[in-house]
Amino acid sequence: MSYLMPEAVDVIIVGGGFSGITLAFNLTKCNPDLEIVIARSPKGPRFGVAYETDFEAHLLNVPAKGMSAFPDLPHDFVEWAHQQGLPLEPNSFAPRKLYRQYLEDLLKEITAGGKVRLVEKEVTNVTKSPKGWQVEFSDGTLMSASQITLAFGGFPPAHVPETRSVTRHPAFVENPWTEIDRCRLAYAEKVAIIGAGLTAIDVILSCENLGFEGTYTLHSRRGLMAQVHDLSIQPLPAESIPQPNASIRQLLKSVRKAAEQSLSFGSNWRAVIDGMRPRMSTYWQTLSPESKRRFLSHVRPFWEVHRHRLAPEIHSKLQALIKDSRLTVQAGKLLSISSDRDRLVIRQQPNADGPSVVQSVDLLFNCTGPTSNVRSWPSPLIQNLLAAGTIETDSYDRGINCDSDGKVQEGLYVLGHPRRGMLWESTAVPELRVQSSNLSRVIAQSMPERVR
Ligand SMILES: Cc1cc2nc3c(=O)[nH]c(=O)nc-3n(C[C@H](O)[C@H](O)[C@H](O)COP(=O)(O)OP(=O)(O)OC[C@H]3O[C@@H](n4cnc5c(N)ncnc54)[C@H](O)[C@@H]3O)c2cc1C
Repeated sequence: MSYLMPEAVDVIIVGGGFSGITLAFNLTKCNPDLEIVIARSPKGPRFGVAYETDFEAHLLNVPAKGMSAFPDLPHDFVEWAHQQGLPLEPNSFAPRKLYRQYLEDLLKEITAGGKVRLVEKEVTNVTKSPKGWQVEFSDGTLMSASQITLAFGGFPPAHVPETRSVTRHPAFVENPWTEIDRCRLAYAEKVAIIGAGLTAIDVILSCENLGFEGTYTLHSRRGLMAQVHDLSIQPLPAESIPQPNASIRQLLKSVRKAAEQSLSFGSNWRAVIDGMRPRMSTYWQTLSPESKRRFLSHVRPFWEVHRHRLAPEIHSKLQALIKDSRLTVQAGKLLSISSDRDRLVIRQQPNADGPSVVQSVDLLFNCTGPTSNVRSWPSPLIQNLLAAGTIETDSYDRGINCDSDGKVQEGLYVLGHPRRGMLWESTAVPELRVQSSNLSRVIAQSMPERVR
C-alpha cells in the first residue's frame, strides 16, 4: 500500500475574504518566495457576506478614503477606482459590490505569479503535524504548512427563539443574506423585520430595489436605529478622548462629558466615538469582568447604533420612507410569532405592563445580526478545533483566545472577526487592515530559514 504525503506549502490561510486576501498580499510583500494557499469555502460568500451583494444601493458604511486595504497606502482604494475610470470621491460611500471588485483585483494580482494559490474547498479541521500543521478539506484531502491563519470571518445570523415554530414557513427569512423571494415580495403588502440595525436597512434597500411599494415595520427591543455619518466633524484633541476605566459607569460618564465638550470644538459626539475607536481593545481589556458583563447586556445596543453609522444618502432614503408612513419602528419585547396560513402573526409588548400589539405580515426577515457566540456556530472546523482543545474561547464566547498578534499556538493564528473576544472591535476594514499588515510581519519572521 502506498502512502502519499500531503502536499506541503509554507502558509495556509483559511478564508478568502478581505482578511485572507490582504494577509496573502502582505505576506508576498514581506517575502515573495513564500508558497501560500488561500482556502476558500465554495459554500459561503466568496469575498465575504459584506461585499457579495449586487445591489447598487448597498453602500459601504465607511467613506471611500477609509477603505484602502493597506494602512500604509491610505489612498489605495480611491486610486484603484480612478484607474478603473470611476470618479470616486474620497468622502463618498461607494457601492459594496465595487469593493468586491477591488478585492477580486487584489486576488488576481497575487495569484498571477503562481506562488499564491486559491483552493476552493472548505476546511473542516486543522491538526498538529510533525512539520507544523495539517488542514483537512471537506473532500477528505490534506495539506500541510508550518503556519496557518484562521480568517474565516463573521458568524451566521443569530437564531431568534420566538421564531422556532415558523422557521420553515415560506414567509419567514431566517438568513437575510440569502436572495429575496421576488415572487413572494411582488404580492406582499407588509414586510416586517426583527432588528433595526444595518442588516435591516440592507433588507429595506433590497426590497425597494425590487420595486416593493408596501410598508416595513422594524421590531426591536429598544427601537434604536443606526445614526448617520457627519463628514464635516472635526477630530478632537487626544486629551478630549475619554481615558479607559475599569468601571463602565465611569467610562460612560466620561463619554457623555466628552460629547458635551465636543460642541465647543465645533464638533459632536461622533468625534468622541471616532477618537475612541483605535483604542477599543484597551477600553475593553481595562473594564472589570462585571463591567464587561454590564456592557454586553445593557450598553452594547447603544454603542452599536452610534458606532456603525449610515451613509447620508441611505439615511435620507429612510427618512423619506418614514415621512411617507411606509417605515415604522416598533419598540418592545417580542412575545410570539405564529403562522396564519401563508402569513405570519407577530405579537409584541411595547411596555412591560401594557397590552401587546399584534401584526399580521406577508414576509418576515430575521435581521438580528450575526450570532455572538463562537460555540454555537455550526461550522465543522470550529466544532472540531474546540473539541480537540486546539482553540479556546474567551469568557463570553465572543471570540478565540489569542495574543496581541493573533497567535493561538506556535504557527496557528486568527485574524479578523474571531479576535473580537480579545479586542472587542475586530470587524471593519480600518482595524482589519492593521491586523493583517502586522500579522504578515510576524508570520514572515517565524518562517524557517529556507524561506526567510
Ligand atoms: C452586511 C455587512 C456590511 C458590511 N459593511 C462594511 C463596510 O461598509 N465597511 C467595512 O469596513 N466593513 C464592513 N463590514 C464588515 C466586514 O465583515 C469586513 O469589512 C470584512 O468583510 C471581513 O472580512 P473577513 O475576511 O475577515 O471575513 P469574511 O468577509 O466573512 O470572509 C470570510 C471568508 O472565509 C471563508 N470561510 C469561512 N469558513 C471557511 C472554511 N471552513 N473553510 C474555507 N473557507 C472558509 C468564506 O467563504 C469567506 O471567503 C460589513 C459586514 C457585513 C455583514
